[in-house]
Amino acid sequence: MSKIKIAELFYSVQGEGRYMGVPSVFLRTFGCNFKCAGFGMPKGQLSTEADAIAQIADKFKLYEELPLVSTGCDSYASWDPRFKDLSPMLTSDAIADRISEIIPFNEWRDEHLVITGGEPLLGWQRAYPDLLDHPKMAGLKEITFETNGTQKLSEEFKEYLLQWQMPDLDFDREITFSVSAKLSCSGESREEAIRPDVVCEYQEVGYTYRKFVVATEEDAEEAIETLDIYRAEGFDGPCYLMPVGGVESVYNLNNRRVAELAMKNGLRYSDRLQVPLFKNEWGT
Ligand code: SF4
Repeated sequence: MSKIKIAELFYSVQGEGRYMGVPSVFLRTFGCNFKCAGFGMPKGQLSTEADAIAQIADKFKLYEELPLVSTGCDSYASWDPRFKDLSPMLTSDAIADRISEIIPFNEWRDEHLVITGGEPLLGWQRAYPDLLDHPKMAGLKEITFETNGTQKLSEEFKEYLLQWQMPDLDFDREITFSVSAKLSCSGESREEAIRPDVVCEYQEVGYTYRKFVVATEEDAEEAIETLDIYRAEGFDGPCYLMPVGGVESVYNLNNRRVAELAMKNGLRYSDRLQVPLFKNEWGT
């Protein structure tokens, strides 16, 4: 039976993108190929907030005890190896059991599954079919992969996902790829972060949209230039601008401005409902 290293598994309201407001199960896998230490920092500088917390990682026994950060990646513990002991390896059975315990009525109805990270398409692709075929997942109709858009799909996983588009199947599942490719404000290199070839492949398998985290007009301009690169390679899905801000003080500074930038450029605006609703606490 397949196992997945799970950073968090919780039930909440999707706060971002296409399914904003939809009751959702979040499966946060462990591991990421990036650090995104530039978020919320002056241009060219990297945050050391998460690193300072990681120096005392052994003090924390639960995700809920971890401090929130106002700069850098807000889910730092889902990939930094110093927090790996907080994330158990769980079998498909254990994950499916846990999900049926946390959703209302103990069965899938209108809930949607978000497979997030970290970067969920790194190594766990081989384990998802076992989980998604589990009898307790039978009622699940909609799945979103929240990805940074750098990981190719394996041939096996692509074929597996494509089967749900077959007209003779007696059930269907809608697959969405929410691609948050990283702009320079993340601190990641453009060569590694911008992979239109990868994102165009997702488009063959499911509904795919782009989501750029921005704070300034300069970021929005970079988002639009980057979107043009994706479009030139054949990407034709929608694009959202979403404000930087894992904590309310930062989010409140730029959410309205980012909405205006989205309007001005004819792009969609994505909120981060988890910040005003739940303060972006772990497990929300
Ligand atoms: S890609 Fe996402 S999870 Fe990975 S470091 Fe960046 S913000 Fe964090």
